Amino acid sequence: MKSRTTLIISTLLVFIILTTGILLYVFPSSSKDYLKNVNEYSFWENDINTMVAQPQIGQFVNDFLNTETEKTKKVAFLGFDALRADILLNILKDENGANNLTQDKTNSAFAHIKDIGHLYLAYAGGEKGTDTQQNTSTAPGWTTLATGTWGNVNGVQKNGDYKKAEVKTTILKSTENYNMRSLFTVAYRSHIDKAFNVDLQYATEHNLDMKIHYVDNDTQMQEYLLQCVEVGNPLERDFIFAIYKDSDAIGHQFGFSNNSKEYVQTVLQADTMAYELIQAIYARPTYSEEDWLIVLAVDHGGLGLAHGGQTDEERTVFFATNKDFVLN
Ligand SMILES: [Zn+2]
Repeated sequence: MKSRTTLIISTLLVFIILTTGILLYVFPSSSKDYLKNVNEYSFWENDINTMVAQPQIGQFVNDFLNTETEKTKKVAFLGFDALRADILLNILKDENGANNLTQDKTNSAFAHIKDIGHLYLAYAGGEKGTDTQQNTSTAPGWTTLATGTWGNVNGVQKNGDYKKAEVKTTILKSTENYNMRSLFTVAYRSHIDKAFNVDLQYATEHNLDMKIHYVDNDTQMQEYLLQCVEVGNPLERDFIFAIYKDSDAIGHQFGFSNNSKEYVQTVLQADTMAYELIQAIYARPTYSEEDWLIVLAVDHGGLGLAHGGQTDEERTVFFATNKDFVLN
């Protein structure tokens, strides 16, 4: 009898330990030191007290469009889906050392744009506990970055929400106000098409040259993008809003973490593709007559196999640009 009780108790214990282990793997808890550690990396130009609110990045693009320039204005807004801030330890050298994983990576869009421009810490998810709070998810993130507003203004606070027609994206505005041939491109159309199709509809009704192009994966998008920056190519565009999305899918499968080699590898690939695209822009025979704004931005981070919540791992993002940005 006694040994039976012992067996039941030990079986129960094993069950509890296993279940806890699995739960912690799928839903790991947020680390209270995460933000403090991220803040210590040497490569940011700002710190956690001056983190850039995601709408300011969209506003920054808007401001560039509205500024008079002598040269022909062009925009490459390159998005990276679900990049945690600590992923950059695989790309940039942290001079403060303790966290360092690598030397500066060559053929890296982030290393290059940081080198010639700026790299800032930013945050997604709205202002916590206010009506601007929104999910750290794909559609809210990109809609905020494309409109310069939080979801309480643009209508997209979670995946599946429809953007309000009157809050236009910079993709549409560049075409409507500045006659730029614009493009939005991404893999995995679900989430995004509800948010952006209203702009495409408007463009079609008003005979404006705005295009949305869905692809299957980053590699396919890259082939397409290289044609979009080629002078004289029928696909050539003046305003490009493109999102490298494979990192999100791989993160959901293998974990959003520097311990997930699949995730790290996918991010590094996207970073290299973006670098090649920037080099293709520089190689344009008309480049010296053009004024390019290049922005590298992130919609949200991740924790375990998921994101959407308000932890520091999910909220903390970053952006890089070749132009001067005024910190508030
Ligand atoms: Zn996701």
